[in-house]
Amino acid sequence: MVSLDHPVPGVDYPRTFQEFDVRFVSEEACREYLRRLRWPQGFQCPHCGVPGEPWMTARGVLHCRACQGQTSVTAGTVFEGTRKPLRTWFLAMWFVTSQKHGASALGLQRVLGLGSYQTAWAWLHKLRRAMVRPGRDRLTGPVEVDETYVGGPEEGVRGRETLDKTPVVIAAEARGRGIGRIRLRRIGDASSETLLPFIQSAVTPGSVVHTDGWSGYAGLGSVGYEHRVTPLKRSGSPAHELMPRVHKVAALLKRWLLGTHHGGVQPFHLDYYLDEYTFRFNRRTSRARGLLFHRLAQQAVATGPAPYHRLVAHGAVEQVRG
Ligand SMILES: [Zn+2]
Repeated sequence: MVSLDHPVPGVDYPRTFQEFDVRFVSEEACREYLRRLRWPQGFQCPHCGVPGEPWMTARGVLHCRACQGQTSVTAGTVFEGTRKPLRTWFLAMWFVTSQKHGASALGLQRVLGLGSYQTAWAWLHKLRRAMVRPGRDRLTGPVEVDETYVGGPEEGVRGRETLDKTPVVIAAEARGRGIGRIRLRRIGDASSETLLPFIQSAVTPGSVVHTDGWSGYAGLGSVGYEHRVTPLKRSGSPAHELMPRVHKVAALLKRWLLGTHHGGVQPFHLDYYLDEYTFRFNRRTSRARGLLFHRLAQQAVATGPAPYHRLVAHGAVEQVRG
């Protein structure tokens, strides 16, 4: 199997923490790295659109030579308006990507020595918003699709009643006996109006899509997929044997939410945890953790800012349990 993050020749990233530590020793070095990620073809003025090297002040403000407009490498990115050194952000990105299961807010606060839990929590949420690349490739068949339920006090309830749980639809590529890439989405219900658009956005048309006999999937053939149905009732086998990949992903996701995040995830934030989980899962075979850091930094400068008030707009900061 080809690693999904097979190092691309010419991609510039630190391979070890020692390399990282030496390279990003100053604010200037961090800014320069972000500048190259943001404008890989060279700087282009966001005001007048004219390309050409800007001049940069000591504080990192870029001045366009054509219109004299000012910008900064962090304006319009995840890092916009930060009062902390970029090196601290870089350390956060390194910590988040070098840990197999990621970091909790408490863990990040401790390792970076951040003054408040809220800051660490907000940083993780900002970085999570950069973990799904816009316009990413769709999965290719064969793909298993099924729903699961996360949260709530009990596991193991099968059916379409949510019982205080949040339904999540999972698509997993079948690769031999193993799993390729995945896509996850929180859903309001398991109707065809919800499930079909998810599949259309997640899976390349023409692919074989394997589901159970739920009516919400009945229209797959008419929207361009080769629909393989295994009705649960007639098969006589438990669901986890019919959709082994989806069920494995569901079990790992639940373990991750309980383990790394102590189950303290609120439903309105779940989308972002699903993005982080997908980001990690789809790169799980990559041995180059530094490349993961590079990808996250690259996506962070392509992702808009998420001010604190927006992160908590739907409720309070999640509290750590246990
Ligand atoms: Zn300009």
